[in-house]
Formats: sequence, structure tokens, C-alpha cells
Amino acid sequence: MNHEGLRLFNPDVESRLLSVLIRRFTPEIVLAAATTSGRTVLPAVAALVNTGLTADCTGLSIDPENGDLLQTRPAIGGNVLATIRTPSRRPQMATVRPRTFRLPQEDPAREGAVFRLVPPDAFMTSPVTPLEAEAGEAETAPIQDAEVVVSGGKGLKRPDAFRLVEDLAAVLDGAVGASRPTVEAKWIGYSHQVGLSGRVVTPRVYIAVGISGAIQHLAGMQTSEFVVAINRDPEAGIFRVADIGLVGDLFDIVPRLAGALSARKEARP
Ligand SMILES: Cc1cc2nc3c(=O)[nH]c(=O)nc-3n(C[C@H](O)[C@H](O)[C@H](O)COP(=O)(O)OP(=O)(O)OC[C@H]3O[C@@H](n4cnc5c(N)ncnc54)[C@H](O)[C@@H]3O)c2cc1C
Repeated sequence: MNHEGLRLFNPDVESRLLSVLIRRFTPEIVLAAATTSGRTVLPAVAALVNTGLTADCTGLSIDPENGDLLQTRPAIGGNVLATIRTPSRRPQMATVRPRTFRLPQEDPAREGAVFRLVPPDAFMTSPVTPLEAEAGEAETAPIQDAEVVVSGGKGLKRPDAFRLVEDLAAVLDGAVGASRPTVEAKWIGYSHQVGLSGRVVTPRVYIAVGISGAIQHLAGMQTSEFVVAINRDPEAGIFRVADIGLVGDLFDIVPRLAGALSARKEARP
């Protein structure tokens, strides 16, 4: 949709426009990224079209029995993951944390209808006048773009042990992630935190080193394509989402793994 009046973000105009489009096209599902603008506009749209909204989802799926959208998000202070459905209102609306899903392979056979609409000028009249826009901090961190993320947890025991995680990440040309307690202990900066109150990552490979696998951590990495977990406790929750689990002492396993991968890398022509 194009109009000079949409150049600067105006939540009042955008929410009214979206609600008109929803009434006209009657979609079953409306989704937006849980970015600053998505989080601002979608609740207002939901109120205008008289439906509900599940904010900040970490998972979405379709109920095969009735086609309902199953909207999963942390609840009760992040201590449980609740799955919410909207059986009697349409559209079903949700915002989803950026990078929750990996981009699917492009499929040229699939097509969607694209409507190029121009809203009438009268629509741009608003009690809200945006004065100017300034670029803010990026809403995604570098770890969210990495193909490989190696994350360290409290099992590292001391801040300088993060070197092990950094060395393994370097061999794999990956980024360094962390669990919340290590960030709170100031072993590493917040931009590295993976999880509910940190970043969501969906790398091809996620390696969890000395991380127990609390649901708040899983909320930030469980959609990774391939998960490797290194933990000395065979009952650790992280093994439930791991494709490969290495049970043992990380101080033994991680340097050996980094050494072996480095030797293989050097031997490559
Ligand atoms: C509202 C809320 C939001 C939260 N947000 C986040 C978030 O964004 N991200 C996050 O990570 N957490 C978050 N948490 C905290 C979360 O509940 C856990 O406390 C945290 O993830 C645990 O971190 P950890 O796995 O590093 O530490 P621990 O739970 O202490 O686990 C350490 C693990 O290391 C293993 N270990 C110890 N020594 C060794 C060794 N030598 N070799 C191998 N393994 C070893 C242990 O077996 C253990 O499994 C949040 C909590 C709440 C309530």
C-alpha cells in the first residue's frame, strides 16, 4: 500500500487501514512481527475488528482437525508455555517474535495474490501527527543472523571459561550465545543472551554447552535446525530438544571437539 501519508509511522492511521482491509478481505489469520511497530499496531487492529490477539508468540501451528491457529507463548511470568486458540472469532491474530522460524526454501511454484491499493486521502486525517523518524537501535542482534551459534551456560562455572565457547564458535565461523544467568553474572553482554528475555535464534546448528534447557532458554533456540547439547547431567532438559547429546564434562569435550574440527578445517584443500 502506497501513500505519502504512510511515509512516517502513524499507528492511528495504520491500524484503521488494516482494520478496513480485514473487513474487506475477511482473512482467517492475520500475523505481524513482534517488533516495536507490530506490537503497537496489531492490538489496536484487534480491538477495531473485535477479535483477540496473542502477542509475542514463540510458536505457531495449525490444528489438523479444524484448521484453528494454535498460538504458543510464554505465560505466568515465563514459567509455562501456553497454547491459545481462538475458536469463535475471526480473524485469528498473533504477533510473532522475529527469527522464530527459519526462512523456508523459495518455491517458485507457489503464488499469492498481490493487491496494490491506494487509500483515499481522507483516511490520512488523524489526530496524531508524526513529526519525524529517527533510526533507532537494530531490533535484531548479530547472533540472529548466524548459521552456527555456540552458547555457554552456568556449567562453564567461571567467566574466563567462555573462551572455550568462543574458540569452538570461531572454528565453526559461528556466533557466541549465552544463557541468562551468565549474562546476569556479567560473564558476557546482553546482546548474546538467547531465550525468552533475550534473542530468538534459528541457526542451522545450535550447540548448547553447560546449559540445562529451562523452557525460557528453549523459547529462544528450539526452532534451530540441528541442536547439539553438551552436559554432564543425562537428565538435563536440553537433551529433549537435542539431535545429538554428548553426556560428559564440557571442559574435556569442548576443547577436543574444537581441536578436531580445527584439524579437519586445516586439512581441507
Ligand atoms: C521470566 C523469565 C525469563 C527468563 N529468560 C531467560 C532467557 O532469556 N534465557 C535463559 O537462558 N534463561 C532465562 N531464564 C532463566 C531460566 O529459567 C534458567 O534459570 C536458565 O536458563 C538456566 O541457565 P543455565 O542453563 O546456564 O544454568 P543452570 O540451570 O544452572 O544449568 C547449568 C547446566 O550445566 C551443567 N553442567 C555443570 N557443570 C558441567 C560440566 N562440567 N560439564 C557439562 N555440563 C555441566 C549442569 O548439569 C546444568 O544442566 C528466565 C527465567 C524467567 C523466570
